[in-house]
Amino acid sequence: MKAVVMEALDKLVLKDVPDPVIDDNSALMRVEAVSICGSDVRILHRGNPRVKPPAIIGHEAAGVVVKVGKNVTRVKEGDRVALGADVPCGQCYWCRNGMGNNCEINYAVGYQIPGVFAEYMKLTQLVLEEGPVTPFAERLSFDEASLAEPLACAINGLERVNMSLGKTVVIFGLGPIGCMMIGLARTMGATKIIGIEPSEMRMKIGKQYKADEYINPSGIDVVARCRELTAGEGPDIDITACGAVEVHEQAVEMVRHRGYVNLFGGLGKDVRPMSLYSNTVHYKECCVTGSHGSVPRQHELAVSLLEQGMIQVKPLITHRFPISEIHKAFETMESRDGMKIVVHPQE
Ligand SMILES: [Zn+2]
Ligand SMILES: [Zn+2]
Repeated sequence: MKAVVMEALDKLVLKDVPDPVIDDNSALMRVEAVSICGSDVRILHRGNPRVKPPAIIGHEAAGVVVKVGKNVTRVKEGDRVALGADVPCGQCYWCRNGMGNNCEINYAVGYQIPGVFAEYMKLTQLVLEEGPVTPFAERLSFDEASLAEPLACAINGLERVNMSLGKTVVIFGLGPIGCMMIGLARTMGATKIIGIEPSEMRMKIGKQYKADEYINPSGIDVVARCRELTAGEGPDIDITACGAVEVHEQAVEMVRHRGYVNLFGGLGKDVRPMSLYSNTVHYKECCVTGSHGSVPRQHELAVSLLEQGMIQVKPLITHRFPISEIHKAFETMESRDGMKIVVHPQE
């Protein structure tokens, strides 16, 4: 089969590799759509301790089950399935208690488990028994279903911040995650959503998600502006869906008393530490949290929200490439000219 192999840092090679061989406890998925994640780009250029080249990366996928081992009951031939990234080990405290994204081993597709930038992927016994493998209805396209993975991460982000009816929510960064967050926050009952984004292209797409206010932060005092828009109190919830330490600081500074801040977007290793007066948290009684990845339950929920049309992801897909143009696909992702870049391994 054709696969994109990361042979070393900065080196992605499209080549023929042997087809995966399945046993009685595994299944074979024909990969129809893979969207490129920001983490794929980071792995390619900076590496990751959980990825040992040569390796097939990629984890946001949807496809069709084409072969199943005789002991497999979770999926059957012909199933359209969406695949998530984080696979609980099933053994540790976190995995046994439904918080597998906190697992110390942190198995993931496209990391320790060969990924989906390939014509086929082997759904191993562990992936089938513990992982995010979710069948979906025909009305959902493969391209959309591949986005259940990041949507699941966004759901995890909102589950960490005491979201409920009537909350005011500020979302920093209107990339794909930020846009999904607007849709989710609205679905969960937010009455005021403020989106902050410096890029005009992203702002234009972000506006399709109908937040109540949009702010371009260039040259303005974002904290003051958000307070002004929330009756002087500050928002109930701040989500940072971007990778800037300054934004983490602004988020804590602006949140209202008893509010929640989710430092959702991770930062590079060489970024300076966040600067924060402990008393800001102390007097406000606010809660600062983070979130990472998702669990299979959230992936199932993501697929069902997409199937019901409750969250739209079509506006986020700005580019599509056949696998033969994988380098162009990654370049487009890195140029930040697009939002979600979907690769089709069968083309
Ligand atoms: Zn991802
Ligand atoms: Zn575990």
